[in-house]
Amino acid sequence: MGRKMHSREDVSRQKTEDLGIPDLLVLNSEGDDETFYAVHKRYFKKHKSACPACGSTKTRCSKVVRRKFKDVLWDSEDSFRIIDIYFYQRYLRCDGCKDSVFPEDIDFGQKGCRYTNRLSDVLADGTFRYSYKKVSNFFGVPASTASVGAIMRRRIQYRESLLEPIKTPKILCVIETEFYDNTYPVVLAIWNNEVYCLDILEDTTEGAYINFFKTLDADHIETVCVDPEESLRSAVATCFPMASVVMTEECVFRYARNAMLSIIHSDGKRFPVRHKDTQLTLHKKYLTDARVKKQIKKRMKSRPRLQNAYEKHQNLLELLETDWTYEDLAAWADEIPEELNEFADLIDLIDIYEIELRAYLDGERHLPERYITSVQAVCDAFKNMPRCIFDVLRARSILTPGFDTIEEDGKKKRQGIRYDRLTANMNQITENIKEEREYGLER
Ligand SMILES: [Zn+2]
Repeated sequence: MGRKMHSREDVSRQKTEDLGIPDLLVLNSEGDDETFYAVHKRYFKKHKSACPACGSTKTRCSKVVRRKFKDVLWDSEDSFRIIDIYFYQRYLRCDGCKDSVFPEDIDFGQKGCRYTNRLSDVLADGTFRYSYKKVSNFFGVPASTASVGAIMRRRIQYRESLLEPIKTPKILCVIETEFYDNTYPVVLAIWNNEVYCLDILEDTTEGAYINFFKTLDADHIETVCVDPEESLRSAVATCFPMASVVMTEECVFRYARNAMLSIIHSDGKRFPVRHKDTQLTLHKKYLTDARVKKQIKKRMKSRPRLQNAYEKHQNLLELLETDWTYEDLAAWADEIPEELNEFADLIDLIDIYEIELRAYLDGERHLPERYITSVQAVCDAFKNMPRCIFDVLRARSILTPGFDTIEEDGKKKRQGIRYDRLTANMNQITENIKEEREYGLER
């Protein structure tokens, strides 16, 4: 045991140079240029790896495991080769704590990943904007689903490390967005009368909110616009005790629209109006096409529940255009019959969040004029993104377009991503993936 299989004479200088991974020495071998057999450069040194369990350097080689990695070599900017590296990884036994056996450290590949870091980074960069499968196909490597998480996380960490600290806004808004079977909070900031996206959080637990809120300067936050979620309300109370907590008209509007959409999807099947989701949730006065108006009226007759919901929804839209009071809203909620149970969440919201709604109505309104449509655009962009794990969704939506920054005390700080740039970028990625666009090198 411990006798070395390879000697220094086995090392090929040329192939080591061709591979160009600083820690690896490539051994002479017969055969093609696409296969490299390598050992770590410490293989020929006296230096002993320390045991990760006890720190002792009384370690010795107990076995060698041949691990295969896929790797990429660039011949020029747009011409590459995919190669195989067979790496002889040593496992060491520690004399200090006897039974402890550990693999020698490497930094060109991640544990459990069959790609080298530099190949995995290239795949991740592509997968930020295209489907992982298309990118893997382009590079001619298997689209290993076991590896995609590790590949993406590594690149996300890197991109994250480049981010400037957040500049804390005066007005913070949290919108809970549906994405397949999950709900992810999107955190927005208001700057210069526009909506900016700061981040998207992994879940709606109090812990997730607090972790994010802790990155902000609590003294700067004046107003927090919340969604109806207990964990959010309690995280805001913990982190921003001085802030005014409000529930905006936008939230009421969004909950009403979502209720209406679900009624359309259940009772309005085969409703013969193009873009019915949009047409049936718009304020009537924005329906410009007389034929569509007539159609809606006529076709509603055979769908009484839909018609009832439509009228109630229209009443609300009408109300929201006036200088409404909390009492007006509560009166509207009282009118909703039980059969329109899709509105139940909204009715609860009006009931439970009276204080926050009143705080909104009584406070100075500093929200942008286009706040409702901006938020709707953001929610729709998230809803349309192709199904993927949270890390990938977050990377695609907020780590690809680049943040808007502002200088403060000589330091760059990030303000978020302006909503229109955010949604344009997300919609482009959605199109790339849903329309199965072929990936190509963007250089
Ligand atoms: Zn040990």
